[in-house]
Amino acid sequence: MQTREEALALDAADPLAPLREQFSLPEGVIYLDGNSLGVLPRSTAARVQQVVTEEWGTGLIRSWNSAGWITLPQRIGDKIGQLVGVGAGELVVADSTSVNLFKVLSAALNIVAADSPQRRVILSERSNFPTDLYIAESLAKQHGFTLVLAEPDELPGLMNEQLAVLMLTHVNYRTGRMHDMAALTAAAHAAGALTVWDLAHSAGAVPVDLSGANADFAIGCGYKYLNGGPGAPAFVWAHPRHADRFWQPLSGWMGHAAPFQFTPDYQPAPGIARYLCGTPALLSMAALECGVDTVLAAGPMGGMAALRAKSLALTRAFAALVEARCPDLGLASPREDALRGSQVCFAHPEWGYPVMQALIARGVIGDFRAPDILRFGFTPLYLRFVDVWDAAEHLHQVLTSGEWREARFNQRAAVT
Ligand SMILES: *Cc1c(COP(=O)(O)O)cnc(C)c1O
Repeated sequence: MQTREEALALDAADPLAPLREQFSLPEGVIYLDGNSLGVLPRSTAARVQQVVTEEWGTGLIRSWNSAGWITLPQRIGDKIGQLVGVGAGELVVADSTSVNLFKVLSAALNIVAADSPQRRVILSERSNFPTDLYIAESLAKQHGFTLVLAEPDELPGLMNEQLAVLMLTHVNYRTGRMHDMAALTAAAHAAGALTVWDLAHSAGAVPVDLSGANADFAIGCGYKYLNGGPGAPAFVWAHPRHADRFWQPLSGWMGHAAPFQFTPDYQPAPGIARYLCGTPALLSMAALECGVDTVLAAGPMGGMAALRAKSLALTRAFAALVEARCPDLGLASPREDALRGSQVCFAHPEWGYPVMQALIARGVIGDFRAPDILRFGFTPLYLRFVDVWDAAEHLHQVLTSGEWREARFNQRAAVT
């Protein structure tokens, strides 16, 4: 893709192009931050309005049954399950990604402690998302484990008789580097350990096959590529082989086998339903379902495989255009398709932050991750090849004009 005309021709020939109509995108914006907060589906406002005025306003308490509120965590869970390769009834929507990580990591540590108490290590990646490391650090302290952090290439060498749990984020939030889930899971199992996978940057972005990879536990985020809205509920999965063994450390009544018996003792619900804790946030769940449906809408057009092919074409084109035109920026994402998620990052040691602010002022929205990463997420559901071309052109102009030096682009906001 060398010219804007070629980009327009690719869009004209793109069978996924109609999926963009599902979204309400502001005029004059090229949105390259769907990996941080997905865009608003057109259906969401009306659906949330309906839940508020009809289901809540008129139905009131009756809606828990009549509108199916009580089974929403399972209903949306089954939809997300289709995107990550698990069967119906194996995955639920609940709480936040951080809280779900606490639950599954507690469970995995509990199983290992019972089977092989000499295993005391939780292994993760040094550049994993901080909340994952903070939760792991806290659980390690509470239960007498050690959190070991390593670079991706060092992981296989650390799978030994000490290892209890390998805890990784499938696609790195910063660089977009993607792990080989099946290979690492097999290596962890061969060493006698369990695996916990965070799919925050994978669900709805790249094909995931948790069952095929024989993973143990997984969690993921609702507000990134699933377009569920700010603070959308997250999801949680456990392999059915652990279904009756895994522990729920947050033993709330919604995860009880019979919540409406109101018994004083806790009996966990069978299977993944025990990973519900308290009453679900219904309005947020309604919005999340609209977002998940926008991804499922790609099903008749080839589903995640087709979205992945377009995503790779978009990220490849953007990386090539920026590398050719902005020699001061260093590509910080893998060049090899198989190692790259749905984002492209460039590093600049000094002026990454102001360059991103100047770009955002031009309507090209990516984000900055300290200390030096300019991050661009590519959501194939609504991005066009011409957006890629225009974004690269804007970045080139920001750098050559030097407009990023303006004082207004150099003041750090709370959220970067
Ligand atoms: C976005 C993200 C989270 C977010 O966790 P919250 O509990 O929703 O704040 C967690 N882990 C990873 C890897 C993420 O990318």
